[in-house]
Amino acid sequence: MTGRIPVMLPWLGEAEAEAAAEAVRSGWVAQGPRVAAFERAFAERVGAEHAVAVSSCTTALHLALVALGLGPGDEVVVPSLSFIATANAVRYTGAEPVFADVELSTGNLTRATVDAVRSPRTRAVLLVHQGGVPADVDALRAACADWDLALVEDAACAIGSTVGGKPVGHGALLAAWSFHPRKIVTTGEGGMLTTDDADWAARLRRLREHGMNASAAQRHASSTPVLESYLETGYNYRMTDIQAAVGLVQLGKLDAMLERRRELAGRYAELLADVPGLTPVTDPAHGRGNFQSYWVLLAPEFPVGRDELLALLAEAGISARRGIMATHLEPAYAGHPAGPLPVTERIGRDSLILPLFHTMTEAQQDRVVAALRGAAAAGPAAGGTG
Ligand SMILES: *Cc1c(COP(=O)(O)O)cnc(C)c1O
Repeated sequence: MTGRIPVMLPWLGEAEAEAAAEAVRSGWVAQGPRVAAFERAFAERVGAEHAVAVSSCTTALHLALVALGLGPGDEVVVPSLSFIATANAVRYTGAEPVFADVELSTGNLTRATVDAVRSPRTRAVLLVHQGGVPADVDALRAACADWDLALVEDAACAIGSTVGGKPVGHGALLAAWSFHPRKIVTTGEGGMLTTDDADWAARLRRLREHGMNASAAQRHASSTPVLESYLETGYNYRMTDIQAAVGLVQLGKLDAMLERRRELAGRYAELLADVPGLTPVTDPAHGRGNFQSYWVLLAPEFPVGRDELLALLAEAGISARRGIMATHLEPAYAGHPAGPLPVTERIGRDSLILPLFHTMTEAQQDRVVAALRGAAAAGPAAGGTG
């Protein structure tokens, strides 16, 4: 055994350190020219007309819902199977998250699962591309058009994933992205909103900066005094130029990161193919994922339960994680109405995320596979029932 294998490790190097140092040396560290450059590069990369940088994906989601004018009395359909920030963003506006189930193969909402829970009060659907597995956006966009609902995409995990050959983000009404270190492209903390609508982009820029009609950068650039005014109640959700400098370098490495992730995912799939009771995540028919989270689903007959398996892996020096959470089962949502969510609960209970990071070696991957094989072979007597 040669050291602990992390579940995720950002691929940061001297170029990011140098870019951050340059931003510091320039004397402009708050939102400024590097944020603007990062926005342009990001919009181009995901096939959107406009990108608005913010402090996190959580604040991006909040602003998207504010821009849609949602508030008390409105309902937004969300998957329970998501990081809790998805549902929380709805609550920030005073609207109610309504939990829909997901399909087993992708972990994503479908037309049918949304249809089962929408009501006359539903105003929007918050679609998550779970763990980087692209949702069937064409089907969901058509459904939301039929029902006259706004479709917001939580693309926190989905940079570089594609649907029908187009990047996730292309054609999205509003998509929210994350640069937390658990995601593929990181700025430490940070987020982005993308849209094709210039008026919305302008409103989102204003909302992230206290509702001001002129940004600090615009005022700085002007030779005459600019007297700003505050057009509505906004927020301070800005990204810093230090973060954007790092993000620009990271974006330049994205293709290499995607290639390596897909390579490692393909190798996992091959090595795990003959392990009984264990189903790895794969690409859906409609697109290709970035394998931001490489999860496996345990069959009921797998000899050890998920939590036991996590413990066995930890003993072998391997950091895995429980799979994507079921939000409706968390104390923060105790008492919140939820209909039956059998697939969500199944995935939440029986899935785990395996280590996968850019600098992962094949020897490290072999160790993970060997530990899983050992658990699969252990049998009920050795492993208990979990
Ligand atoms: C990580 C994540 C978020 C939150 O992103 P932050 O940038 O940490 O706020 C939201 N939604 C999903 C699906 C995520 O995976």
